[in-house]
Formats: sequence, structure tokens, C-alpha cells
Amino acid sequence: MAGLTLRGIHKAFGDTAVLNDIDLDIADGEFLTLVGPSGCGKSTLLRIIAGLESQDRGSVSIGGTSVDHLRPHERRIAMVFQNYALYPHMSVFDNIALPLTMTRLNLFERLPLMRQLSPRRRRVMDGIAREVRAVAEQLRIESFFHRRPGQLSGGQRQRVALGRAMVRHPQAFLMDEPLSNLDAKLRVHMRGELTELHARLGATMIYVTHDQIEAMTMSDRLAVMDHGNILQLGTPAEVYERPATTAVAQFIGSPA
Ligand code: ADP
Ligand code: MG
Repeated sequence: MAGLTLRGIHKAFGDTAVLNDIDLDIADGEFLTLVGPSGCGKSTLLRIIAGLESQDRGSVSIGGTSVDHLRPHERRIAMVFQNYALYPHMSVFDNIALPLTMTRLNLFERLPLMRQLSPRRRRVMDGIAREVRAVAEQLRIESFFHRRPGQLSGGQRQRVALGRAMVRHPQAFLMDEPLSNLDAKLRVHMRGELTELHARLGATMIYVTHDQIEAMTMSDRLAVMDHGNILQLGTPAEVYERPATTAVAQFIGSPA
């Protein structure tokens, strides 16, 4: 199925190794959370899985098939960033539709002039609009399709970023501290929404957070990282009750 496998992922920037031969097996539909101190390599690992960064050695597979040769949009993996990375000059609709228009319209059809002139473009866009609406309904964001990201609240922007990830129906979602820019109340609310979304979509999730409560309550398993290594991998209860090292205990806040 659509489980994710990392084998010997190694990455250095200059002389500094930031990922040391990471091996990790994530089951189809699993919610795996990466935690660890700032700079330990969490974002770099997500970026490599998404194809936004290339590893020096090692391999990423989905469903047993290597995706190393595939470009980001060719991998059935969607990433949601901490800062949402929405295009400020584009409407909510266009932001969500972008992954589909980029793959289904050719360069020529993407020219504004072609909006009126190309019947094929119109047919493709009708299909895309249906798919965008279906995702937007799930996230309850249809009412501000025509706004720009700058006219939205943090929570609304977060939903648009989720919509842009969902519209591709990816096999895996990668989320890099997706709630860290929200206020405390909204964060609690969105935790519940993400958990529900994960259950509903049944997609594999790799989630990065600094928030202990998110890590302990949302995850099937936790991977605790430090200096480019996975120190411990286990259920939240296992990691909390039986930390493998004092570094894990300190980071997780286990009783001494
Ligand atoms: P985390 O997300 O766990 O905070 P990162 O993966 O962002 O950590 O970074 C891991 C290390 O790699 C850090 O020391 C960071 O400074 C370094 N790093 C990340 N991206 C680059 C880059 N493009 N060029 C050089 N160093 C980088
Ligand atoms: Mg990071």
C-alpha cells in the first residue's frame, strides 16, 4: 500500500551532516510525528521526502516504489508549511487550484489570453473547479474563494494551505509545524480538525511540531530526533514512559 520507506537518507550542507543515514518505515495511514530540538533536521527530512531537496545518499519509497527520480509535483506527496506559502497575488480559489492547473494545463493554456480562446482550457477548468469546490466544502472555505490570502485570518489561511494539499489527493501529507502561527485557542481547535481529517482521508501523515500536547495526543508514533539521528521511535506512551536516552527524556519531559 502507500506506506513510506526511508533507507539510509544522508544529507550534508557543506561539511556539516544534518541527516545521518535515516531509516524509517511509516505504515499506510499512520500518523507519525517528528520532534526534536531546533536544527536537528526535521524540515530537511520532510523536504527530501517531498522532493524539494535532494539527499546525498539513500532512498525514499512509497508503496514499495522508489520516488527518488520524481519531481515534487510528480510524487503523490503534499507538503503544508508553517508559513502556509500561499501566493499573495492569487485568490483562494486559484491558490487551491494551482497544483491541478500546473499539471493539467499546458504553458500556453495558462496564459490569461487563453481564458476566452481555448475550449479545452474551459473544459479542464470546469473539472478543476468541481474538485476545488469539493475540497473547499470539507474545509468550509467556499465563502471566501475570491479573497486573497492577505484578507484572511490565520486559521483561514491554514485551511487554504490544507486545501491546496488535499486537492491532489496525495498518498502522504507532510506538515511542518502547521499550527505554530495560530493563537492558542485556534491551535486547540485545529488539532481536532487535523485529527479528524486524518481519520477521514486515511492518508499517511508525517507531522513536525514543537508542541508536546500535539505530539502526545495526535500521533500513532513519535520519532525523536537529535543532530540528524532518530534517537527513539515508538508510541507516545512508550517514548514517554520508557525514554531510550536522557536526551529523549529531557526533550519529552518524562519523569526522571
Ligand atoms: P529543524 O527543522 O529540525 O529545525 P532543519 O532541517 O531546518 O532543522 O535544519 C537542520 C540543519 O541544517 C540546521 O543546522 C540548518 O541550519 C541546516 N540547514 C538547513 N537548510 C540548509 C541550507 N539550505 N543550507 C545550509 N544549511 C541548511
Ligand atoms: Mg524546521
